Formats: sequence, structure tokens, C-alpha cells
Amino acid sequence: MKYPRRRICPMPRSYDELLSRARSDTDKEAKKSGALRLELPEPDVIWVGNKTIFRNYAEFPKLIRRDSARILMYLAKELATAASIDGERAIFIGRKDRDSFSQLLQRYVKDGVLCPVCGSPDTHLEKEKRMWFMVCEACGARSVAKVA
Ligand SMILES: [Zn+2]
Repeated sequence: MKYPRRRICPMPRSYDELLSRARSDTDKEAKKSGALRLELPEPDVIWVGNKTIFRNYAEFPKLIRRDSARILMYLAKELATAASIDGERAIFIGRKDRDSFSQLLQRYVKDGVLCPVCGSPDTHLEKEKRMWFMVCEACGARSVAKVA
């Protein structure tokens, strides 16, 4: 029996190609674990008069499993304004732009959600002697939470 001449699976042509294939596999692995697993949605922000309505606010505490009021306090403090929760929405006094919210939320996640040891977002907070610790459910590491 003769094999057909046409190649069914193209073989990598060069060492470089092999290398770049190996690299893209590593990227895929990195995406599966750690920081990149947690993708924050874009804040949906509108302005009404002198207020900023953060319309999909409730998605964030749910996604990162942190207390909604605590995250709101963090945002209000960093933006130097007052804020309140209205159902799924958060309302801030003053006109705040979407980028500020997304930067602050990313920082919050980096400092208070992602495990500094393995990068997993599956962590929870524990209070001990007036200090907040982040406990990683993936690797078991306990680290001081920079935000809580
Ligand atoms: Zn960990």
C-alpha cells in the first residue's frame, strides 16, 4: 500500500518554527493559570449631571469574591469622593472616567486578590490580630493583604 504524496500534516520547516510553536504552547499554559485567568470586565460608566454611575459595579465584587462595600470604600477613597451603592450600580459624586475605575480595580486585584506566590485569584481574606491575610486556595500560601 502506497501513501499519498500529499502531506496531510505539514511538518515544521525549521528549528525556529519549532521554537515558536513551543513558545506559543507556553503562553497558552500561562493563560490557563494565574493572573491571566481573571479577566475584569470593562467598567460601564455614564455621567448624569455631576454624578458618575458605574452601571456594572456589582459584577466586580462577585467576580473577585470580595465585599462590595469594601471595594466601594477603596474606590471612593482613591478617587477622593463619596460613593454609594444603588442595586447593581455604584454612584460616585463628580465626573470620574472609566480608565480610573479600571486602573484602580486592577490595582485592587493585584494587591488584594491575586496570590503573590502562585498568582491564583482563588484567595480569601482572613483577619488575624487586626491584620488582613490573603489565603490562597490554590497553593495554601498566607500573605499580608495590601488592600482589604
Ligand atoms: Zn497561591
